Amino acid sequence: MNIMAYWNMSYGVYTATTMDKGRPVGCIANSAMQVTVEPATIAVSINKDNYTHGCIEECGMFALSVLPENSDPKLIGSFGFSSGRNTDKFDSVDYTLIEGMPVLSSSCGHFICKVVSKLDTPTHTVFLGEVMDCDVMNTDTPMTYAYYHKVIKGRAPKNAPTYIPDELIVDQGDKSAWVCTVCSYEYDGETPFEDLPEDYVCPICGQAKSVFSKRN
Ligand code: FE
Repeated sequence: MNIMAYWNMSYGVYTATTMDKGRPVGCIANSAMQVTVEPATIAVSINKDNYTHGCIEECGMFALSVLPENSDPKLIGSFGFSSGRNTDKFDSVDYTLIEGMPVLSSSCGHFICKVVSKLDTPTHTVFLGEVMDCDVMNTDTPMTYAYYHKVIKGRAPKNAPTYIPDELIVDQGDKSAWVCTVCSYEYDGETPFEDLPEDYVCPICGQAKSVFSKRN
């Protein structure tokens, strides 16, 4: 079995958001799909360890914001590599409430969904949501997971359904590359990594230069 086949599956990059007793919370979701047209339903897979998971269960509603290719990588880092348990991810993000659900202003489209069913797996819940509202916000190109991986050089967080552990990745690329140990971002700037200022931070997850290490 060659698990690299999973990287040939197509995914988008979304935020799945909901309300936690009046506070907006959310996480990155890439396993989302339209399931039916009438009634319109969407399925999204969320890790049970994600704080957002319990909030969606409690609230019974969620929003999917479609992230465009020109999204700020820090936004993906914040929603993908930090937890709503101890941070307010929306503090530095513009959003509007639609049907009571937080929608990112920088998204190129959104879906507001009411949870109508759930599929349980050992690690994730697949929430089936009936679409109550949806809209196109602009003409930006929606980001695919492949674009995030190849152009932004980001990787899936450990809680994502699409996460592949480093040791199982067949072609790990440049062996001398400096890689963020938090989000797996691979530094590829022109300045040698060693010469970067000490206040350099990972453009994806915002962690310090010190969390980078050479791949091998
Ligand atoms: Fe990082």
